[in-house]
Amino acid sequence: MSLAPGNGPVQITQDQLQARIHEIAAKIREDYHGMEPHLICVLNGAFMFHADLVRAIDMPCTIDFLQASSYGNAKQSSGEVRIVKDLQFPISDRHVILIEDIVDTGITMNYLLHYLEGRGPASLKIAALLSKPSRRKVEIPVEYLGFTIPDAFVYGYGLDRSQFDRNLPFITSQE
Ligand code: 5GP
Repeated sequence: MSLAPGNGPVQITQDQLQARIHEIAAKIREDYHGMEPHLICVLNGAFMFHADLVRAIDMPCTIDFLQASSYGNAKQSSGEVRIVKDLQFPISDRHVILIEDIVDTGITMNYLLHYLEGRGPASLKIAALLSKPSRRKVEIPVEYLGFTIPDAFVYGYGLDRSQFDRNLPFITSQE
């Protein structure tokens, strides 16, 4: 789903978020029918999306958490990624879905994809709530995407503004 690009602020309401997450959940339920997907939350930003998505998919699944950090300032990835918190459970032969808040340059997800591929999952897909395609430096396949947004700094619903505002139930770019 694409939000109209333009100069206006990005606003995604609680209802829009929940409606889209239920659509993604229905697709995952269909695609992983008869399987037990392993849904990995990329901390911190994806914690709300992950929590709502796993509740909405309503099928047998397991979860884990991973935290990556990139050197650089708060608003921009430097391109150098490191793992801050590793997985608790093995993913070999598992059908893994990596749950991310936002794909910006794509550098973080590209790093995590390679990192996890090395651990031998049966399959590995990405679900991202938001994408800013105009900022992409590395192309990565996003199988399940919530919303395409223009190049604006957004926060709320898990995403931070200098570590605050993650607890807002909606997403906004307004100051
Ligand atoms: P990438 O490696 O794709 O450039 O950056 C991904 C990470 O940068 C996201 O997981 C998120 O932590 C951060 N990020 C990118 N754009 C935004 C944004 O608009 N708002 C917030 N809060 N974080 C962002």
